[in-house]
Amino acid sequence: MNYEDMLKKAVQNLPARSETRFEVPVASVSVGKRQTIIRNFSEIVKNLRRNPQELSKYLFKELAVPGESRGNELILQAKVPPSLINQRIKEYVRDFVICKECGKPDTILQKIDSYTFIKCEACGAKRPVR
Ligand SMILES: [Zn+2]
Repeated sequence: MNYEDMLKKAVQNLPARSETRFEVPVASVSVGKRQTIIRNFSEIVKNLRRNPQELSKYLFKELAVPGESRGNELILQAKVPPSLINQRIKEYVRDFVICKECGKPDTILQKIDSYTFIKCEACGAKRPVR
């Protein structure tokens, strides 16, 4: 076996990469006459490791719609197209979840005085969020 083959074999024997690409959870949305329900809201926040208040506050503000959480669901008091909700969740993930340095979602939010920082547990990077 020559060096190249050995190298090839070594690469094949490496354990499968455990870090699967992070996927933004997709909201399961029911649009009613006067309200819109995100059915899997608690699942989404669990997936993002954020507390429900943070994401719901963000969505109410960005969608300019009042609402409330009920059990595992988030109720929005208006008709909102599911595509718009998913767009906002993606933006939230981009701004508040994904580490800008290493691209991993293993981050936590830290509040220091009146500033909020996003801190990455994977690479240690820390930056303020707006
Ligand atoms: Zn990082």
